Amino acid sequence: METKGLNSPGYEIPDDVKGAVAITTIDRIYNWGRRSSVWPLMFGLACCAIEMIATAAGRYDFSRFGMEVMRPSPRQADLMLVSGTVTKKMAPTIVRLYNQMPEPKYVVAMGACASGGGPFKEGYNVVSGVDKLIPVDVYIPGCPPTPQALINGLIKLQEKIDGQHWKDTRWYREGDLAAIPIPMLGPDLIYQEQIPAIKEASKEA
Ligand code: SF4
Repeated sequence: METKGLNSPGYEIPDDVKGAVAITTIDRIYNWGRRSSVWPLMFGLACCAIEMIATAAGRYDFSRFGMEVMRPSPRQADLMLVSGTVTKKMAPTIVRLYNQMPEPKYVVAMGACASGGGPFKEGYNVVSGVDKLIPVDVYIPGCPPTPQALINGLIKLQEKIDGQHWKDTRWYREGDLAAIPIPMLGPDLIYQEQIPAIKEASKEA
């Protein structure tokens, strides 16, 4: 068990009980548990997915970070790992699965395509980054990013989790967390929140 940083309450523990007593904060132990068991929902959409798969395999092995439960399911997932080109056709599915993930949940955009559209930016069928659809916590540059870059991004996510305070986190606030409206796919993507403005514009036309 990695306990580095866990038993550091900010004041001296008397010498005679050192090694027998551990003092920590709720935040530190709670975040340590969460950051050490981030289960990803893999969302491999294009070439970047090969690097994601390689990161899970024996040579890089992100099981070392407690992330070995990687499934294409929102059930019990903490992290949506979007890896590859986000097409407009895929957008409703991404948002639907994100809404189905329980809190706390995080999103990593792996690679240039997921972060901003990449070489296909402004393409007729491509969303210019998954952050147009759902909130992203960590962006990983590269085309494709190497497994080392992905691991670095996952460590950044762990650092973010370490810095969270359980009282401030959105999933402990009162009231329901609003789901993100699922965009509709017609001749192009239609974002539900834009519908009133579209109706107004069509009246004026
Ligand atoms: S960023 Fe590059 S490697 Fe990754 S999905 Fe896009 S084109 Fe493929």
